[in-house]
Amino acid sequence: MNTNPTTGIPAAAPKPSRDQRERPTPALYLFLALPLLLALAATTSLPAQAADPCARTAPRGYDDTPFIPGQEWRVHDISRPHPPLVTPAPLTAPVPPPSDAIVLFDGTDLSAWNQRGKRGEERGKILEPRWKIEDGHMEATPGTGDIFTKEKFGDIQLHIEWASPAEVCGDSQWRGNGGIMIMQRYEIQVLDSIDNPTYADGQAASIYGQWPPLVNASRKRGEWQGYDIIFEAPEFDGDRLVEPAYVTVIHNGVLVHHRQQIIGPVSHRNWRDWEPHGSEEPIQIQDHDVPVLYRNIWVRRLGEYDRK
Ligand code: MG
Repeated sequence: MNTNPTTGIPAAAPKPSRDQRERPTPALYLFLALPLLLALAATTSLPAQAADPCARTAPRGYDDTPFIPGQEWRVHDISRPHPPLVTPAPLTAPVPPPSDAIVLFDGTDLSAWNQRGKRGEERGKILEPRWKIEDGHMEATPGTGDIFTKEKFGDIQLHIEWASPAEVCGDSQWRGNGGIMIMQRYEIQVLDSIDNPTYADGQAASIYGQWPPLVNASRKRGEWQGYDIIFEAPEFDGDRLVEPAYVTVIHNGVLVHHRQQIIGPVSHRNWRDWEPHGSEEPIQIQDHDVPVLYRNIWVRRLGEYDRK
């Protein structure tokens, strides 16, 4: 059998037409290009992403995701309007806890927290937190994993302060991404949202993938910001949802969600239906492989009227 000395491909038995001779098959194109493609993959794209985290980039939205139940927008809809920018009042934080608050972080230690390993053999394991503590704040140390409270909570008032890195690093969802995962499921997004275009339901103070904030009350990167979150836990009867969760969020003193109904657990590029869980679950802070700072975290269980 005759073979092409360059490609090693056996010569075809029937004589090819002129048209076939001048237009090699797609398979032949792929065969000829394969060494070049492999060399490019090995020498450029993959190592470049890993070597320079600040080169990471993310889409500014999507037009192929499912519609959010009850809304006219898709999850992370690229055409969803961005909330107007509001300049918050000057920072008066840190906001000290009232006497009945449970202090989750006072700037000195992470004794109220566990960490879930993220990579390699540690993946999924519960560990001692390794986020760095410095100058009264903690830093989400990239790649170490989310931290979550040892204590569990249901209906709460939560105060937390955060700051995204002062230096621009990455864009869209890679710039200063963190998150407050209430009950380890319902995320109030943390992101550098000044001059950082991304999908509206993924910017700072969004209920991630569900609702943008009413306004963008963000401060500049590197400046401390405050969230005051009032959260009403969902109620289940066995596998059945009896009452969804609701959340109110005040961002830097500005109301950005007013008892907004949550759609379900957080998801990326999709939405998820309710999944039963306990009446109290940990509060979790997201490690999104970006060094976000946090400080002054305290929580109160919501009270009831007419209770002694
Ligand atoms: Mg996040």
